[in-house]
Amino acid sequence: MLNRKIISKLIDAGINGFQITIDGVPFIHNLYRKLKNGKGTFSKIWTNIQKLKEIDENIHVVIRTNFDEDSYNFLDEWINLYQSVFGKDYRFKLVFRPVFRTGTERDKYLKFCDLKKSAEVESEILIKLWGKLGFPDWYFEEIMLPKPKTIYCYGGLPRCFIVGADGSLWKCTDALKEEDIIGNLNKKGEILVNNNRLIDWDRFTEQWLYDDDCKKCISLPLCMGGCILSRKRGKKGCYSSLFPVNKIMEAYYKKHLERG
Ligand code: SF4
Ligand code: SF4
Repeated sequence: MLNRKIISKLIDAGINGFQITIDGVPFIHNLYRKLKNGKGTFSKIWTNIQKLKEIDENIHVVIRTNFDEDSYNFLDEWINLYQSVFGKDYRFKLVFRPVFRTGTERDKYLKFCDLKKSAEVESEILIKLWGKLGFPDWYFEEIMLPKPKTIYCYGGLPRCFIVGADGSLWKCTDALKEEDIIGNLNKKGEILVNNNRLIDWDRFTEQWLYDDDCKKCISLPLCMGGCILSRKRGKKGCYSSLFPVNKIMEAYYKKHLERG
């Protein structure tokens, strides 16, 4: 979908940040993300991303790789393939995230990594990208060093919506059912919001303010109450783990010590 023509239109409209998901080397990606007819999607996405690289503009492209218990075994191969194409073009950033349960049919077929394992894989890979593959310090610091934030995810940004192919608007990529629709984008490009649904969503974005566990939690300025959707579903939003933070801080310190 993100071909050269559409990219140019988006850049003209002032949009220069993109996130594209590739879940690993071709056979892994095609296993997880196939079309209705069973065909894989890797080759088309990969070709279009390489066309993006030819654009002489200041674009920011996050290549996101989701992993689970099976696919993480092939991440090294994927990093090598990625590097062979994007090398030192740091307008492109490779990030890794674990696959989360969404409560839908697909949960039956995936082997999710638990929180600790996910944190281990994420920190190990980022340390590898930084230390062995020569990614620059700022790349690593930007992606991995913890920073205080005002919201946990884009679902808490008032002007951020997921736009469906038919113009439906949602707040969260894991809540895409009919009853989760917050509004519509009409043919004139106007945003029509169902204020009751938006207010209902918004009240969970600030719920951490009244949560005693959050107030005592060392992760608070890094997490800000966690996943809004989990809270909306009556659960805690705690998906942050201090494990990678400790690992990364350790690696950061060692690296700077070695350099003197
Ligand atoms: S980790 Fe859990 S308790 Fe701590 S701030 Fe985040 S949501 Fe609150
Ligand atoms: S609310 Fe939770 S599930 Fe939804 S986008 Fe935010 S972190 Fe992800």
